[in-house]
Amino acid sequence: MISHAQTLLREIFGYSEFRGQQAEIITHVVNGDSCLVLMPTGGGKSLCYQIPALLRKGTAIVISPLIALMENQVAVLCRQGVRAVYLNSALTPEAAAAVERRMLAGEYDLVYVAPERLLTVRFRALLQRIPIALFAIDEAHCVSQWGHDFRPEYGKLSILPEKFPQIPRIALTASADARTRADILRCLDLHQASSFISSFDRPNLCYRITARSNSRIQLLNFIRSQHAGEAGIVYCQSRRKVEETAAWLNSNHIPALAYHAGMETSIRTRHQKKFLQGHGIVMVATSAFGLGIDKSDIRFVAHLDLPKSIESYYQETGRAGRDGLPASAWMVYGPGDIIRLRSQTESGTERLPAPIRQAAAARLDALLVLCETTVCRRKPLLDYFGEPTGSLPCGNCDACLETIPVQDVTIAAQKALSCVYRTGQCFGMEYLIDILSGKRTDRVRQWGHDCISTFGIGHELSTEGWRIVFRHLLALDYLVAGEDRAGGERIALQLTSAARSVLRGETRIKLRLSHHHHSAPYQQISTGLSVPSSRCQAFSCEPQTKCGG
Ligand code: ADP
Ligand code: ZN
Repeated sequence: MISHAQTLLREIFGYSEFRGQQAEIITHVVNGDSCLVLMPTGGGKSLCYQIPALLRKGTAIVISPLIALMENQVAVLCRQGVRAVYLNSALTPEAAAAVERRMLAGEYDLVYVAPERLLTVRFRALLQRIPIALFAIDEAHCVSQWGHDFRPEYGKLSILPEKFPQIPRIALTASADARTRADILRCLDLHQASSFISSFDRPNLCYRITARSNSRIQLLNFIRSQHAGEAGIVYCQSRRKVEETAAWLNSNHIPALAYHAGMETSIRTRHQKKFLQGHGIVMVATSAFGLGIDKSDIRFVAHLDLPKSIESYYQETGRAGRDGLPASAWMVYGPGDIIRLRSQTESGTERLPAPIRQAAAARLDALLVLCETTVCRRKPLLDYFGEPTGSLPCGNCDACLETIPVQDVTIAAQKALSCVYRTGQCFGMEYLIDILSGKRTDRVRQWGHDCISTFGIGHELSTEGWRIVFRHLLALDYLVAGEDRAGGERIALQLTSAARSVLRGETRIKLRLSHHHHSAPYQQISTGLSVPSSRCQAFSCEPQTKCGG
């Protein structure tokens, strides 16, 4: 079988060898078995179902959420002589009916469909009448409410195992944390099936993330010193910033083009084409650019603003260095990004149930930890994708390559941990920060927390500074987020056994805190975060009360 697959790989797709786990996955699916494939973008997921589609009897049905991607894949396949077609809302009813007729006549090896179409009674009836080679569910993370990209129609794909139990299902995605993965297995009934999980590490990418000072100058210095004359993408949040940055680069003799959804389609297409075919062109774009683009020699991806999630960051930076040669993922960020993202997260989820809001907040925290970490960048990145990080530090990121300025925030960490302890481990981060900052809110007074020893002992840090400390205590496993026993909606922070050594001063906590995170004048900080040492010792006693005063 695999030799047939190899022949197809060579003769149709023009590649000499399978990459990563492709051969195993293809063998598995050709044998009629279902599976989950977790592979980073650019890893080569498509071949994992395209080759089985050609080797198995009948038509393969590929479910894909994005019309543009679907059209692109079909166009490439047709050029390679594969009998592929798509069915989506972009087709006229007549054209769709014609495709359906030809499907019945067995004229296609692959049919790409949008999930809405698949779910119609009419289409399902059609599927009952033809031999089906397999179902490929692309972007399978869309089934999960926990994911970043939930599509209600995807949630209904559970009809596949129900109505077509004997047809192999291959679920593919480039991003799925543990909860999302569990949802995929449940929805598509893949519990008995194999999972093929590839590494998300991109060893040739060098990650660098710095605080924003003057981002244009920083960008110019970065390009000139490391990537002069090379192709790259610069991501910005706003359309205006895209255009201004492209103009600025051009005026500094770096050939740059702009791309965003507000531009006329013909101009956008022209810019994309120039970038793909040209050499040494910098594309300045919003996140609208890049889906499905195939250019292997992009040497850098720069972010002038924080993307909305680790998934987006990983996806966008992943466009650099597809050829395996050294490439850079470079980013600047500042407090404005954090405010923007927090308000977007809150407004985007305010009507959703509490656990989903908390999952969204935790995703944002994971992104901020990636920015603020003082350990290897690959640790928070791979942690996020649930990948073991035994082989780190990597030696190819700013944290590994440079000495980064860090601050010892052990005392602040002790204050935070003891505040968790003093309040009975029942409260969420924002409330604890209110106590540390000495805010007499109604809730604080209700619980009597304005009378505990940790009330108002945290004036040395701003609210954001405290958030950084709490985020890292969570990321470093000194705190865990448990159920909120005090009945509120937020997640209650609880101490882990490791917290003890921080409270005793045996473990030091070091973070990247810049002076804008301090609320007191900077001068005061250098004299130390003063707290009587007797109070620190007292932190290790038993709490007097459970759940507050
Ligand atoms: P994904 O869907 O995982 O993002 P694709 O299937 O689009 O990735 O593949 C990414 C790129 O890698 C494409 O240009 C594809 O043609 C190429 N590719 C896939 N498999 C191989 C292979 N075995 N050898 C060389 N190139 C490959
Ligand atoms: Zn590293």
